[in-house]
Amino acid sequence: MFAALPDKPDHPALELEILELWERERTFDRLREQNRGGPKFSFVDGPVTANKKLAVHTAWGRTLKDVFQRYKALRGYEQRYQNGFDCQGLWIEVGVERQLGLNSKREIEEFGLAEFARRCREVVVESSADITRGSQRLGQWMDWGNDYFTFSDTNIEYVWRLLKRVHGQGWLYMGHRSTEWCPRCGTSLSQHELSQSGVYQDRADPSLFVRLPLLDRPRESLVIWTTTPWTLPANVAAAVKPDAEYGRRENGEWVAVERYPDEQLAERRRGEALVGWRYAGPFDGVGPGAGVDHRVVPWDEVTLDQGTGIVHIAPGCGGGDFELSRVHGLDVLTPVDEAGRFYDDYGWLHGLSTVESADQIIGNLAERGLLVESGLYEHAYPHCWRCDTPLIFRLSDDWFISVEELRPQLLEANQDVEWTPAYMGKRMDDWLNNMGDWNISRRRYYGLPLPFYPCSCGHLNVIGSKAELEQRAVRGLEQLEELRRPWIDEVPITCAECGAEAQRVVEVGDVWLDAGIVPFSTLGWQNPEYVPQGYATGAAEGLTTADLPDHAYWEHWFPADWVSEMREQIRLWFYSQHFMSVVLTGQAPYRKVLGYEKMLDETGREMHGSWGNMIEAAEAFERMGADVMRWQFCAQPPNQNLLFGFGPAREIQRKLLTLWNSVRFLADYGRIVRFTPHWGAVGEAGERPLDAWLAARTARLVEEATAAYEAYLTVNVIRAFEEFLDDVSNWYIRRSRRRFWDGDPTALQALWAALVQGLRVVAPVMPFLTEHLWQLLVRGADGGPPDSVHLAGWPDAGRADLALLDEIADVRRVVALGHQARQASGLRVRQPLRRLVVEGAPLAAAHADELREELRVKEIELGHVEATELRVKPHLPALGPRLGKELRAVGAALAAGEFEQLDGGRFRVLGHELGADEVLVERSGKEGWAVASEEGVTVALDTRLDSELELEGRVYDLIHTLNSMRKEQGLELTDRIAVTVPAADADLVERHAEWIKAEVLAVSLDADGIEAPQIAKI
Ligand SMILES: [Zn+2]
Ligand SMILES: [Zn+2]
Repeated sequence: MFAALPDKPDHPALELEILELWERERTFDRLREQNRGGPKFSFVDGPVTANKKLAVHTAWGRTLKDVFQRYKALRGYEQRYQNGFDCQGLWIEVGVERQLGLNSKREIEEFGLAEFARRCREVVVESSADITRGSQRLGQWMDWGNDYFTFSDTNIEYVWRLLKRVHGQGWLYMGHRSTEWCPRCGTSLSQHELSQSGVYQDRADPSLFVRLPLLDRPRESLVIWTTTPWTLPANVAAAVKPDAEYGRRENGEWVAVERYPDEQLAERRRGEALVGWRYAGPFDGVGPGAGVDHRVVPWDEVTLDQGTGIVHIAPGCGGGDFELSRVHGLDVLTPVDEAGRFYDDYGWLHGLSTVESADQIIGNLAERGLLVESGLYEHAYPHCWRCDTPLIFRLSDDWFISVEELRPQLLEANQDVEWTPAYMGKRMDDWLNNMGDWNISRRRYYGLPLPFYPCSCGHLNVIGSKAELEQRAVRGLEQLEELRRPWIDEVPITCAECGAEAQRVVEVGDVWLDAGIVPFSTLGWQNPEYVPQGYATGAAEGLTTADLPDHAYWEHWFPADWVSEMREQIRLWFYSQHFMSVVLTGQAPYRKVLGYEKMLDETGREMHGSWGNMIEAAEAFERMGADVMRWQFCAQPPNQNLLFGFGPAREIQRKLLTLWNSVRFLADYGRIVRFTPHWGAVGEAGERPLDAWLAARTARLVEEATAAYEAYLTVNVIRAFEEFLDDVSNWYIRRSRRRFWDGDPTALQALWAALVQGLRVVAPVMPFLTEHLWQLLVRGADGGPPDSVHLAGWPDAGRADLALLDEIADVRRVVALGHQARQASGLRVRQPLRRLVVEGAPLAAAHADELREELRVKEIELGHVEATELRVKPHLPALGPRLGKELRAVGAALAAGEFEQLDGGRFRVLGHELGADEVLVERSGKEGWAVASEEGVTVALDTRLDSELELEGRVYDLIHTLNSMRKEQGLELTDRIAVTVPAADADLVERHAEWIKAEVLAVSLDADGIEAPQIAKI
């Protein structure tokens, strides 16, 4: 028998109970046992960086992963359920630096790299434990404890193996170039790091126009423009556009004519005529600039949309400038060190940072009469994604993987991938078409040690495994705790070419190497023998029991059937694993991808810890519950940003009450007659038309939900479920109340079966509430139902009787329009009316009785609605995209009444045929009639009242009042009462006593001289 339900669910409390239930009954283990040997669904988890607590952003992605793993499990698929943690790189380092109060690389080295590495590992240990707890609380089912950690020696070895192969292909090279550099972190950044959101931020920089005196043309000068004053001491040339026109002002300043079209110019020349002119460098008095022969050079890339058309060239401080220096053999000056401070040979500038030097440089230029103008310039400027410091350009030697040869293969492999939403696949193509070589080196500490050992003989040794390192080590193996700095730096090797001792480069690898290798390192690619717990090596020892499988296992599970991360990962994890997979196997590492956009707060702002609008997952669990969070995540179309917050959560809690109240209704009436449902009869269509309709409606839900899950679109699951709930609650239950009052077991069984199927299809989205209701509704049923909704498998849709569904959909449309018309007339819902005329809903004809009851009218007539006025407007969302520019004309013609009415609610206007769903139709009725119309269906309600209708209206009001009083006084549904009403209502008692008594379960009904009705329990 069903237990009683409270008014509303306490989500957090019931979720904790369900977690205990799952634990106690080993539900997840049993699910895995049940699916063992089933078809495989290979999902590879993108590692979460283990440097913080679980945030709601991360919970979003984890929910989507869990939803589809749960769905596939219901369908019997065997899965791996391996979670992953990203454990190295700048994110981890920055936390530890802050903890320890270290502010520069020098301070880290003074602190000691061994201790620094241990502290970094501690961060990972703590964070991974917290994220695990949070994920479990979220309801995510993973094989916790068997996680992969990217700082495992095994993972590192797999990256080494890849790098060795890349080197074998001739794609690895050391690049010497001017590149984006973070002065705080003391390292260069790669192109994909710059592509992350938040890197480009608006900021105001100095804007200065500077005069460079020409050496061979007295009293003449070039004028250049810059927003980075600190680069001026590194100036070596000035570039002009050869085919552009330049002019000399009266005061001798040369600028591009196009930039100053209104100025009087004393002389004009084409840019190529300026080439070769010599000028005095802006800071020849300070530093190495004095030794440079400053000249004008030609450059086609010079643009004439800002500045002066003459460009200041500092090859040590700009990417394009550096390329130009190679063309013209220009000097390259590097004015600042790793920390962005001027070197000692820059005189009075030495020791100043790029920011600190700006004012002094501007002042100095002004003193010497070289400053034409200075001000501020607002622009989007790149910042370090990790520490938010504005980036500079700096000359750097970095390790690169050349992508040119691989690019066609990368593009081709992406054609085999099915992306949702599809535009994200296009984004991947764009990236693959445009990306430059991959800068894989970082001048940092806690990361993958690049296995590069350049020898003085010129040979580059690349080590491919730990075994190879041990074989070729000269010394230091005994102290090698992990494949990591500082220990690995104490292990030199023998050069394969000349036998001399070779030392490892100091650089560590880009973290996306660590994450990209996962489809190989965790699945045992090319590993000869399955090693239990073989992945738990190096820093990962003691943190996981993950195995290192063998190659056969890899062949079984690779490629992934499905992966899912946010859109940003296109250039990051989706890219890095794609790249590595194409290098190693020539094919993409995944078949299907689900991407999704960003999460913002509920007002549409970015979430930031410092703005106070960041929501910790722990707070959300406590205040809204995991199911409500999951619902919020799943209701979001993946191509739009999610506005997450407590406001939307309350809205969802309200919506879920429809489910709760429907279950509660069933439980309450089922308890009265001690109803026991039959598990075996789920899915059977009932005999009565309404029961048959409910079974068909339920079958339709299963079909819709199946299609939605198969398309990886949770938003469609939610939509289908909400519509289903509305039909169950506002049609089936509403239309069957009388049967429930009578304890009709077929109605109870029909409703039970529909709700049970509903729980099953939405269980992946809301694992807790559905399980809670399953325990309550299903666990004690006849016929041995499964112990858990998650062990019940995926429901069979059966056959949805589409004709029947269409019929009731028509009926519901007429009812909705009837209510709309009544509302517009100002008549209250309970007032019975004489007549309703329906036009355009032929399928509703068979349901005249139901329409009469629902709309409280005496007669239904199917026919033509005589409306006095018809107003038609375009429905913009539907029509705008189709008509484009013609929309305006069509709208005007409709407004002017220049249209022809066609059947089925369609219209012809200006040669276009408009469907019923493309127009908004307003009709006003004749005097005494209320009219409503939508999508080709029109209803007209006779609003005239007579004394009989008025009397009945009062009866309905009285019944409503009495039933409200029953509820307020807490009476049971079966309690009988005695009723007394005021003398003014004596006419109601006289005419309709039996009707009233039946509706309120009264044994007596009397009129008396009291003010208001009274009831008493018998
Ligand atoms: Zn930084
Ligand atoms: Zn050598």
